[in-house]
Amino acid sequence: MDNLREKLKNCTKCPLHCTRTNVVISDGSVSADIMLIGEAPGADEDKTGIPFVGRAGKLLNEFLIKAGLDRKKDLYIANTVKCRPPENRKPTKEEKIACEDNLKKQIDMVKPKVIILCGATAMESFIKDKKLTISKARGQVFDLNGIKLVPIFHPSYLLRQHSMQKGSPRDLMLEDLKMVKALVNSCKETT
Ligand code: SF4
Repeated sequence: MDNLREKLKNCTKCPLHCTRTNVVISDGSVSADIMLIGEAPGADEDKTGIPFVGRAGKLLNEFLIKAGLDRKKDLYIANTVKCRPPENRKPTKEEKIACEDNLKKQIDMVKPKVIILCGATAMESFIKDKKLTISKARGQVFDLNGIKLVPIFHPSYLLRQHSMQKGSPRDLMLEDLKMVKALVNSCKETT
């Protein structure tokens, strides 16, 4: 992990290195059973060097607590690209490809039982079905060489959706995170 951190601190493999303040590598535990992968750092993440610490990150924390998950112990959190795209735009295909190896190394290191794909950008990097939207994919479990992949809404989308009524995006987010917890528990029982 220290080697990767050192390497990434000086990474200039894509143009995002020109505008970043900090390379945003990870938060949580490297021995976690769950890895959560988001899109890219935003302004707060770029400033602090920690993923999911802005408004969306705080909302994610609330949902994790409600689902009975401990962000620091149960999860390892990373992003598809490690440097902030200007104006919070989506990372380009080229930037995602440039950073792909770094994400693979993180997955190899953590060896998660379940990967939460947070939002469409993370989902598209792993599930190659152009017709699949996050609304259709959420609630389903996909496979990556034995690792369970669970797409969920990105918390930044939920910042604009306030209802907690049955079937609302926030209600579904909680349902999905509870499913992740149950999946991890069932993986532990079978090993
Ligand atoms: Fe390197 Fe990834 Fe940052 Fe691009 S986004 S400079 S590939 S660490």
